[in-house]
Amino acid sequence: MSIQIFGLPISRGVAIGRAVLVASSRVDVAHYFVADSQVAQEIDRLRAARDAVAGEIQALKDDLPAEAPHELAALLDVHLMLLHDESLSDATKLWIEQRRYNAEWALSAQLEVLARQFDEMEDDYLRERKADIEQVVERLLRQMAASAGRAGAGATEALAGVRDFGGSEPLVLVASDVAPADMLHFKRSVFTGFVTDVGGRTSHTAIVARSMDIPAVVGAREASRLIRQDDLIVIDGDAGVVVVDPSEIVLEEYRFRQRQSELERARLDRLRHTPAVTLDGQAVEMLANIELPRDATAALEAGAVGVGLFRSEFLFLNRGGDLPGEDEQYEAYRAAVLGMRGLPVTIRTVDVGADKPLERMSAQELRHEHGLNPALGLRAIRWSLAEPGMFRQQLRAILRASAHGKVRILIPMVAHLAEASQVHEALSRVRAQLDEAGHPYSRVEVGAMIEVPAAAVMIDRFLRHFDFVSIGTNDLIQYTLAIDRADESVSHLYDPWHPAVLTLLHRTIQASQAAGKPVCVCGEMAGDVAFTDVLLAMGLRSFSMHPARLASVKQRVLRADTRALETRLASLLANDDPAKAWTSPAPG
Ligand code: PEP
Ligand code: MG
Repeated sequence: MSIQIFGLPISRGVAIGRAVLVASSRVDVAHYFVADSQVAQEIDRLRAARDAVAGEIQALKDDLPAEAPHELAALLDVHLMLLHDESLSDATKLWIEQRRYNAEWALSAQLEVLARQFDEMEDDYLRERKADIEQVVERLLRQMAASAGRAGAGATEALAGVRDFGGSEPLVLVASDVAPADMLHFKRSVFTGFVTDVGGRTSHTAIVARSMDIPAVVGAREASRLIRQDDLIVIDGDAGVVVVDPSEIVLEEYRFRQRQSELERARLDRLRHTPAVTLDGQAVEMLANIELPRDATAALEAGAVGVGLFRSEFLFLNRGGDLPGEDEQYEAYRAAVLGMRGLPVTIRTVDVGADKPLERMSAQELRHEHGLNPALGLRAIRWSLAEPGMFRQQLRAILRASAHGKVRILIPMVAHLAEASQVHEALSRVRAQLDEAGHPYSRVEVGAMIEVPAAAVMIDRFLRHFDFVSIGTNDLIQYTLAIDRADESVSHLYDPWHPAVLTLLHRTIQASQAAGKPVCVCGEMAGDVAFTDVLLAMGLRSFSMHPARLASVKQRVLRADTRALETRLASLLANDDPAKAWTSPAPG
């Protein structure tokens, strides 16, 4: 039976494919197809892991002290039994043989199937055995990861689903939740669409998903419960709808839309290197947002004239407490700078905290772990100033990278003027250290993210301390409206058109221009064509967004006449319903 699930549209287009359900805790498991010739080898890996884990459990059992409770030995017996049960071992083999999934993926796919069967059991005792099967699979996955490590596969990157030997059908990922850093694993992966149960429109998970430019829906609540492994589903990224098991007529309609968007994409592609100039001759700077140095390639290919936001925190996430040192950071920043071939790169200092905790944690876990609101906690520049050694290390690495090209430093979440002086003090100290060590560096401009209402309200005073500003609309909206951007339950109130948001944006743009300081918008509003005209009307001439969004926004810029747009601004700002006022046709 066909069903529809409603969520939030976060990335446009239509994806049609078979659902791959992935448990949130296992999203960093490798997902790739193996070639026909590798099937036997993959099954061998599975068998080897099973034998090793059986040995491990048997050894645990043999070493149980005499006084250990009986239940413990019985539990280990259950685990041994499950390990050899054909519903796990034979069925997993089938995923490899018939679907060409790699062993880890096959194992997680089968676990999802079994977990559902356990959930549906009437008997409490049997239902609780789900935890046992999960533990057994966890052991197998750990064992395979360890052997992959021993075999030199090394970093998660190598395990993270970047290979595609050509599966027969497109696949779409369905998960309850995916942490932002885990989402990065899926860049260049086999999936052609995403659905998650939780998340807001500008949660960092959504932002990374959007950067992949594949149809995605978040906040689809029960999706991972209602969709089953292998269901045929349609992800309508424009409407935020997921259709499970669509009828042939619905499918045909979506296939048609898919072809239309492919044509549109091909058309937009031609704009890549066209200069972004409005009809009335206003040049607009089109910059890229990146998460990792290698994204510089996509930025250049999309025709960006620089990087307006390098979210450096992605270098820091999920490392089990081992943060990147100065040299490692320097290499990463240098790679981004060289990757941009002389174009400017704006490196934002770490913005960890809120929905980007250092340790892997999903939004759901965060919600349960922290009764407190992490978005108001030790986040971004607050974290950096609380870890001054770490902060100076990052500043040194960024300054050293400036010897290789044009670099700018961007400070996230400033709210207090004192933070500006602390940043400048840290920079002076770091420059002295680099001089002493003989490391070359260039003059680097320092900018502030305007994303806390306090900074927008006091913009004139902040401007005295910074060379440029960049407006982070994602947080500016979150903090102005007191709406957690990662929480789908209040996402209907997350409103970029709110008059308070528009007023703060306008004020910041105007004040910066009056002070002669460059101003950019790097939040998601910059990449949303619904706001291009409004931002141009406010006087904005610098936009930073994910490379995938550049062409659509540029098309909008090319069709805009800023003189005509400006005449509509005053009434927009005075209107109680700006969205309606702006989108309804101008009188006359
Ligand atoms: C923003 O807040 O708009 C922004 C660009 O930063 P981030 O999304 O990383 O918080
Ligand atoms: Mg922000």
